[in-house]
Formats: sequence, structure tokens, C-alpha cells
Amino acid sequence: MANHDVIVIGGGLAGLAAARTLAAAGVAPLLLEASAEVGGRVATDEVDGFLLDRGFQVLLDSYPEARQQLDLAALQLGRFAPGALIRREGGFGRVADHWRAPVAGVRSLFSGAFTPIDALRMLKLRSNAILALEGDPIARGDETAARGLHRRGFSDRAIERFFRPFFGGVFLDTQLGAPVHWFEFLFGMFAIGHATLPSGGMGAIPRQLAAGLPEGSLRVDARVRSLKGTRVELASGELLDADAVILATDARNAPVLLPGSRAPQWSSCVTLYYAAAASPIAEPLLMLNGEDRRGPVNHVCVPSDVNASYAPPGQSLISATVVGSGHADDAILDRDARAQLSGWFGADALRGWRLLRVARVPYALPRAVPAPDSVAAAVRLGPQLYGCGDYLETPSINGALRSGRRAAEALLADRRAR
Ligand SMILES: Cc1cc2nc3c(=O)[nH]c(=O)nc-3n(C[C@H](O)[C@H](O)[C@H](O)COP(=O)(O)OP(=O)(O)OC[C@H]3O[C@@H](n4cnc5c(N)ncnc54)[C@H](O)[C@@H]3O)c2cc1C
Repeated sequence: MANHDVIVIGGGLAGLAAARTLAAAGVAPLLLEASAEVGGRVATDEVDGFLLDRGFQVLLDSYPEARQQLDLAALQLGRFAPGALIRREGGFGRVADHWRAPVAGVRSLFSGAFTPIDALRMLKLRSNAILALEGDPIARGDETAARGLHRRGFSDRAIERFFRPFFGGVFLDTQLGAPVHWFEFLFGMFAIGHATLPSGGMGAIPRQLAAGLPEGSLRVDARVRSLKGTRVELASGELLDADAVILATDARNAPVLLPGSRAPQWSSCVTLYYAAAASPIAEPLLMLNGEDRRGPVNHVCVPSDVNASYAPPGQSLISATVVGSGHADDAILDRDARAQLSGWFGADALRGWRLLRVARVPYALPRAVPAPDSVAAAVRLGPQLYGCGDYLETPSINGALRSGRRAAEALLADRRAR
């Protein structure tokens, strides 16, 4: 039976970050990933020369862990323009840059999703959010983002037309039930950085992390069936022993290997990808549905306007995301999305759109953000057993990278102490 220094179970961003941290400290990791590739929920498929991320997602270049752990320049990030287009009352209103210039941004909204008071509240929210970035991005109370916005005095109109579609898309929860501190952290991230897409798709992020691992330290198609102490049994029956184990699976699989671990509820989404001869807006902007319940689509963008690598030359890729599980029948969902977006861009434009894929992600984001004390406790799961994953931190790229790094650091600290 092979004996290893440290086995990391799960090759999502958390497991990759843990393995990289160990390797950088001179400890040899063996990373075991159940599927055929690393990346977990961050993955990209190529279809007819188009890059389709498995559900629309973005990398914020301001994420502290991304700045620390990734080579952002090598990812050749394409940036979204900082504002958004909001669809309402039969037209688009533009928010210019509510993150960096909240008053100007709010004023620029032609039909006024925001009142002048909202503009002032935005200024205050922005400065508070940036100040709060000094702290920990973990919830310190149970107030939801929705309640927090009301308490701060934002008008219903601002919440319905901007905050709900924008952050509903980020949290994949249009009720805005995420903790208000998590909302503030993300608001701060948008205020000091940009949403981006890498060249080669979001899957380029885990590929970059994996490329930095020592030779022979990664095994794919290696599902772990059971974990007893620090003995690991693969689905093939192969047994592996290690001095220590880091459990870096997602929240659904952790309780399988470690009965008693927390299994949170999940938010889901569906992204419809369309190929088109031309972009309907030719701008790297997010478009939000500010017309509550008029059609299934919450937000739309043209990834190829953000990063040209997403579509073959001369073509455009359009992504339309439904928050929740959408209609179970792809054809009906496509029909309803087209009916909605024909209203946005005109029936003629839609006629040329070709459906490339319906990407359904039932287990996209764990719903709860844990309290700080449980985060600290979750890193050390037992003797020589450590845990990481976005469900133990914040459901995000930043949270996954951070939790992986912290689990590895805890392991290294315990080793030094011994
Ligand atoms: C549709 C969607 C949109 C998102 N949008 C954003 C966004 O815009 N910005 C943002 O910051 N974040 C976003 N996220 C969240 C972010 O992608 C995740 O929080 C993060 O990738 C989670 O990483 P992880 O390593 O914790 O978990 P995972 O990526 O789930 O990795 C867990 C890994 O463990 C492996 N595994 C499980 N069981 C076993 C086993 N028994 N043996 C071996 N391996 C096993 C799995 O195959 C998987 O590779 C989004 C996520 C989704 C799905």
C-alpha cells in the first residue's frame, strides 16, 4: 500500500489551492479528483469553437485570494464594463458606473431606478463596503441582504430594478437571502475591481493552478469511496495511506466520506448559450431583467464581447441565465427565453440565434455562509484530518481558494508544532 505525505481529496479550486500551498512549503501532496479534469464547478466546454462555461460565472480581479494565488496577467482577462443595462418599461436604462462613481452612475439611469436619496445611500454603502474589506468576509450576524438594504433606506424601486436582478444573479437567489456582510464584501469587490472572463474560459483558472503542481501529484478519475482515519479507499478498491488528509470535496460529497458533516441547501441556475452572427449590443455589459417576472431570464451577456476567445472570429456567443431550475423541458425553456429576449433585442435578431447548449447547474452555490467560529473549527476535522471548500467559507472563487489555503496552512502549522 502506497504511503503519501498528504492526500487532498477533491480537485476543485479549494483542493487545488490546498495542494499548491503544500507544494510551495515543500510538502508533497497527492491530489485525487473524481472526475476526468480538475476545476470542479469552474469548468468550460468547447462546442463548435465556442467556449461554454458550466453556468455563467465571472472572476472578480479584486478578489484578494485571486490576486495572491493566480497569475492574473497570464489569464488574459477580458473586463466587463463596470455598469449594467437594466431592462424595464420596454427599454434599456444604463447604470454607468455605480461602483466607482455612484452618484454619476445613479443619475445616468435614464428612467430612474434610483431616487436621489438612493444615490446618497449608494455612496454610503460603497464607502462602508470598502472599509469592511479590511475585515473578514464571513457573516457576523443573520441579517439578510434584502433586510439590510431596506434597513439602509433604499427604495423598493432601487431594490426591485437593480439590487434584486444584479445580486440575485450573483447569489443565484432573487430573494437576496444571503447574509448582508457577504453582500457588502461583494459590493466592495465590485467597487474596487472588475468582473472579468479569462481567455480560454473560466476553466483556464483551475488549469493554471494544476499546471503549477509538482509532476505526478495529480490523479484524475480517482474517486474516493471511503475515508477511515488517514486511509483512503478509491472506487477501484485501491488503498492509499497518508500522514494527513485534506477533505476538499463539495458540500454534497463531504458527508459521504465524513458522516455528520454539514449538508447545506443549494442554489441552482440554468444558462442558455446561443451562437449568433452578431452581438445584440456589441458592448461588454451585463444586461439585467428589471421587469419582475416577465420571462425566465434574469441576466444576459455576450461573453465574446468581454473576451474574444469565447467565440470563433466573426461570431458571437450569448449567455442567458435563469436563476433557479427553470422549466424542466429544454425546448420550452428555450422558447420562453426567446420570447422574452425578442422583446429586448427584436424578433429579427433572435431568428438567427442557434441554441448551443442548455447548461443546468442544480448544485451551483451552497446557500449558507457559516459564522466565523464554525469556519475556524471546520478547518481541523480530526487527527491529521483537515477540511476545505466554499461551503466552509463563502460560496465563491475567493472563498474556495481561501479555504484551501487555510486548511493547508493549518496542516503545516500543526506539523511544525509537532
Ligand atoms: C453556475 C455557477 C456560477 C458561479 N458564479 C460565480 C461567480 O460569478 N463568482 C464566484 O466567485 N464564484 C462563482 N461560483 C462559485 C464558485 O465556482 C465555487 O464557489 C467554487 O468553484 C467552489 O470550489 P470548491 O473547490 O469548494 O468545490 P468544487 O468546485 O465543487 O470542487 C469539489 C471537487 O471535489 C471532487 N470530488 C467530490 N467528491 C469526490 C470524491 N469522493 N473523490 C474525489 N473527488 C471528489 C469533485 O469532482 C470536484 O472537482 C459559481 C458557481 C457556479 C456553479
